[in-house]
Amino acid sequence: MNNGHYGQYGGQYVAETLMGPLKELEAAYFEAKDDPAFQREFAELLHDYVGRESPITVCRRLSEKLGGATIVLKREDLNHTGAHKVNNTIGQALLAKRMGKRRLIAETGAGMHGVATATVAALFGMPCEVYMGAIDVDRQAPNVGRMRMLGATVHAVTEGSATLKDAMNEALRDWVTNCDDTFYVIGTAAGPHPYPEMVKDFQSVIGREARRQCLEKFGRLPDQAIACVGGGSNAIGLFAGFFDDASVKLVGVEAAGKGISTGEHAASINGGRLGVLHGAKTMLLQRPDGNVIDTYSVSAGLDYPGVGPEHCYLHDTGRAEYAAVTDDEAVAAFDELCRCEGIIPALESSHALAEAIKRAPTMPKDSILLVCLSGRGDKDLENIENYKKSKG
Ligand SMILES: *Cc1c(COP(=O)(O)O)cnc(C)c1O
Repeated sequence: MNNGHYGQYGGQYVAETLMGPLKELEAAYFEAKDDPAFQREFAELLHDYVGRESPITVCRRLSEKLGGATIVLKREDLNHTGAHKVNNTIGQALLAKRMGKRRLIAETGAGMHGVATATVAALFGMPCEVYMGAIDVDRQAPNVGRMRMLGATVHAVTEGSATLKDAMNEALRDWVTNCDDTFYVIGTAAGPHPYPEMVKDFQSVIGREARRQCLEKFGRLPDQAIACVGGGSNAIGLFAGFFDDASVKLVGVEAAGKGISTGEHAASINGGRLGVLHGAKTMLLQRPDGNVIDTYSVSAGLDYPGVGPEHCYLHDTGRAEYAAVTDDEAVAAFDELCRCEGIIPALESSHALAEAIKRAPTMPKDSILLVCLSGRGDKDLENIENYKKSKG
């Protein structure tokens, strides 16, 4: 894309003081991207440390039960740390090292990106500080424990509504102050240029592998590639493998929470408006006065009030479509996968799965739905039990 612009979306909407660090990052990233030594080291870590490649798995019993398309999972849940986020944090930590930055900072909502950043900070021997809204620190105690165990410092942010958007502001403030020795690790395909493009590049291993694996296993490409969308990194990583394959329909799935019409959701494309968040022009959840609204979803990892700018562009051009799945539908899909296939999916990934479960019965038997299983669900067990209790 053109200098970080995806149609009217993207760009660099930051304070003047951040333009310097962003330009430095841009130059360093595009140099690294073209350097075979950098790409080799990245690929080696994905293999030796993350355990790639991750397999694709045919859901035989589930597909038979639905009686239509075959559902195939791309197993990012089998990665070290149990999700796709580590693909990106390894890439950014390698770049930090290359740039001579000694300290990593991050912001996190549910804590998954904080854990993925703390993990690679330990791997590279770098100090790591994570900004997290004070409310999230309380809600996500197990992940706060994991980050501390891995040696990171967690800062509870009490400003504003004490959630993710306030943590993002604090992280940007830290970066401005300490950019000489600090690298800001962003956890999704959002933020100012070059982050959306860089995160897509690091996550595109998902789509590249899955495309090759489908060709090897089935002798053909999938009919649809489906992924959940929080900020959009696992989805854009999956889609990147199929952009040039016009026959493959790309489907992003947002969190409709209690239903879009209730206002309690996290569906920025389906239920948001154009604005500026986290240094980029994008679709986001905001009040009429422009204030950012806190998102709601049963799955904490989809609670990002905006969405990566490239997804907005793919939506407008029609190259990808964006569905929305409610809490109830996601939890039902979670149960199905556990019982039909012996795989406990993350609640985030269960949104993508729920959309596939809706579509499969309407499709011919020889069609293939490729679903990105972005993470494993062990982290969600207590949450799901509470959710079911609340439903009676
Ligand atoms: C964080 C997370 C997501 C959402 O993030 P994206 O950037 O939209 O991919 C999805 N699934 C899992 C398991 C996560 O941890």
